[in-house]
Amino acid sequence: MTDKIETLAVHAGAEPDPHTGAVVPPIQLSTTFKQDGVGGLRGGYEYGRSGNPTRDALEETIAALEGAAHGFAYASGLAATQNILYLLSPGDRLLMSDDVYGGTWRLADKVWRRYGIETDTVDLRDLSAVEAAIGAGKTPRMVWVETPSNPLLKVIDIAGVARLAAAAGALTVVDNTFATPYLQRPLEHGADLVLHSATKYLGGHSDVIGGLVVTSSDELAERLRFHQNAAGAVPSPFDCFLVMRGIRTLAVRMERASANAGTLASWLADRAEVDSVHYPGMPDHPARDVVERQMRLPGAMLSFELHAGEGAARRLAAATRLFTLAESLGAVESLIELPAPMTHASVAGSSLAVPAGLVRLSVGIESVDDLRADLEAALSASAG
Ligand SMILES: *Cc1c(COP(=O)(O)O)cnc(C)c1O
Repeated sequence: MTDKIETLAVHAGAEPDPHTGAVVPPIQLSTTFKQDGVGGLRGGYEYGRSGNPTRDALEETIAALEGAAHGFAYASGLAATQNILYLLSPGDRLLMSDDVYGGTWRLADKVWRRYGIETDTVDLRDLSAVEAAIGAGKTPRMVWVETPSNPLLKVIDIAGVARLAAAAGALTVVDNTFATPYLQRPLEHGADLVLHSATKYLGGHSDVIGGLVVTSSDELAERLRFHQNAAGAVPSPFDCFLVMRGIRTLAVRMERASANAGTLASWLADRAEVDSVHYPGMPDHPARDVVERQMRLPGAMLSFELHAGEGAARRLAAATRLFTLAESLGAVESLIELPAPMTHASVAGSSLAVPAGLVRLSVGIESVDDLRADLEAALSASAG
């Protein structure tokens, strides 16, 4: 069709219905499909867990956006993670970024370890450390990248990690939730599998939980398709519709949210109360060259610390009015949170723990003047 993502976001998976001309793919709720004689399937559909037209439309959409041959939809981002981990076998080693999403780490560490998957972490920003970690002990079967990371916005060189992983025969997985295919397309940098929590930017409106995986490997796709049906963590047709509806406006939402975040990040960096700002768009971000090579825009997530510490950070998060104090991210409305006691409570005390006074913003698409005024008033209120 085109390789322009703005066009794909609007049109992929949205062929007008051949029977009715409906421009929007219908929400197909039927759980079972009439067969024309035993095994005579119409369009390949037989039972809703194995395949559903609304889910197919979403899977086609995400594959097109990521430039992949195959897409898969799941009931949540963690269900998508689980389905990628089904590709491993007992005794396999999984090497993860030392800054992965807390729920990803919990699943690997608390669940899959019991089934013999050995997970360890390394700072994937440091390619010589990655090479050393891959070479130390058993060769990993899979390397798990998340970039930019949550909540410190560390940026990993996907091509660099994928090259080292491939040389060792390991698969590279990229959690692309923070960037979305609008900002970054990991398959183009050598990743084998890309994962999304569609709950965040792809859904984009804080009203649906979902997960997506893409790959261009036919062999991996066949195994993913088997497990999608065998384990059954599929999304409802209505959830698929909501994620697809969100994706239609992905390009314009990401442009606006990223521009707003850039403005707020520079403004915060100049404030006397603010200690350090973590944002891939800052001129002094430690991986500025990788950001420029790998990402179209720096995105809309940022975090910062205050000189006055944790108490002031808690007061700030309680004092904003437009920025809602809540977990999650990636929607039209701006959110504020303290990762240590909230989203990252599950990794407290582990090597993945984050600074107690860190404040994280998910910047939305409101007027940046209003957002800045909200932060300014809250910073003044929290100083006392
Ligand atoms: C939210 C999130 C997940 C988990 O997704 P759910 O939809 O909540 O299951 C995984 N990775 C990242 C980076 C996330 O932000």
